[in-house]
Amino acid sequence: MIYDLAIIGGGPAGYTAAELAGKNGLKTILFEKNALGGVCLNEGCIPTKTVLYSAKVYNTAKDSAKYGISCENVSYDLSKIIARKNKVVRKLVAGIRAKMTEAGVDVVNGNAKWNYELRITNYEIECNEQVYQAKKIIVCTGSETVIPPIPGLKETNFWTSREALDNKEVPESLLIIGGGVIGIEFASFFNTLGTKVVVVEMMEEILGGIDKELSALLRNELTKKGIEFHLSTKVISVNNRQVEIEKDGEKQLLETSQILLSVGRKPTQTVVANEFMQTSNPDIYACGDVTGFSLLAHTAVREAEVAVNHILGKKEPMSYKAIPGVVYTNPEIASVGKTEEVLQTEGIAYTVKKLPMAYSGRFVSENEQGSGVCKIIEGEDGTILGVHILGNPASEIIVIAGIAIEKGMKVEELKAMVFPHPTVGEIIKETL
Ligand SMILES: Cc1cc2nc3c(=O)[nH]c(=O)nc-3n(C[C@H](O)[C@H](O)[C@H](O)COP(=O)(O)OP(=O)(O)OC[C@H]3O[C@@H](n4cnc5c(N)ncnc54)[C@H](O)[C@@H]3O)c2cc1C
Repeated sequence: MIYDLAIIGGGPAGYTAAELAGKNGLKTILFEKNALGGVCLNEGCIPTKTVLYSAKVYNTAKDSAKYGISCENVSYDLSKIIARKNKVVRKLVAGIRAKMTEAGVDVVNGNAKWNYELRITNYEIECNEQVYQAKKIIVCTGSETVIPPIPGLKETNFWTSREALDNKEVPESLLIIGGGVIGIEFASFFNTLGTKVVVVEMMEEILGGIDKELSALLRNELTKKGIEFHLSTKVISVNNRQVEIEKDGEKQLLETSQILLSVGRKPTQTVVANEFMQTSNPDIYACGDVTGFSLLAHTAVREAEVAVNHILGKKEPMSYKAIPGVVYTNPEIASVGKTEEVLQTEGIAYTVKKLPMAYSGRFVSENEQGSGVCKIIEGEDGTILGVHILGNPASEIIVIAGIAIEKGMKVEELKAMVFPHPTVGEIIKETL
């Protein structure tokens, strides 16, 4: 059997590519060495959002008196939270498997090997001591956690996001190395469960890449909830449960009952792809985290669509203009387009419009004492360049802004749209 397309890796990039290719009549084979769904479904997006939702429910129950509801003896059981997370993962992975079957995709469970050398004949993929042949390959092998060479770390029983999501006992204290999105989401989760959380971040602000003003506002909210932040601070060594940090040349020793390492992720291999996701070999495409570009599941999905469409003869280049970024803390941050910091570096003129989230009636009715802000960045010609929101449910309403930015809409055009009332999304129309 000669396949039209072989896909290596069954995460969001791989399963999206496989489903689209199969449905469009390409004889497709998908290789996955662990579990279908990849990092996103098994140990990333879905598990984190599932446990964060449990934390949110717990918080809401504790705060229910603010809404005229009384809940007594509110408690949680982490082992049940993790069991529910596992159930959600199983259900979604089964859904992906069903989609593969429906699309007629052959799925092989095993570690696939191939090479990038240009061939006139078919490409060979070796897996489980069998050789498969395909006309084209899409590499979707994803990314892995970065483990920095911090002295003492190797000898310490630290967590990465993987262990943190399977642990059933709440640590008394947790020191998180790295204040990026993953680190801050875990900080929010364990803080809600009552753990004393300390975040050590090397940069001057948490959530690098996200609007600085909103990141600082979120940090203030989290500080009020008891999370301790050490910014512009480096971890210089780890000795079991002791972490030595350094700021402005001054060293300090912090004690903790658990360490969570979240300094970032790196692609499993170095691959460069063009706007149609082709590597230097035009028959071999690369999509998702392996390209090292965005490291987000929704980018991976779109890149996979672009690659398969290209194979099918549709030339739609990948656009990175409006990739939303979300921090699923409570409250959430969601952001799309350019930040002020990027525009300043690029020397692009802009103006900022800003409103407190309390201008949305729905936000006030659902967020007792809740704060937040909607910030819209406009170019000189009235084009919307960036939208940055702090407040729930920012992750759901940001898509409105994403469409506007992708389509190059002007403030006046978006303002002329009718938004349903009362919705939190109206804050965008109000701010414009
Ligand atoms: C804790 C955490 C939270 C996250 N939260 C979010 C979020 O909220 N939103 C978001 O957009 N992104 C989030 N991400 C990132 C998201 O998970 C990734 O961007 C996404 O999974 C990338 O998809 P992918 O298909 O490129 O790779 P992956 O999902 O990494 O899948 C790659 C797959 O390839 C397989 N593979 C690798 N090599 C081979 C081989 N040689 N043979 C066979 N199979 C192979 C792997 O086993 C893996 O299953 C999160 C990540 C983490 C770790």
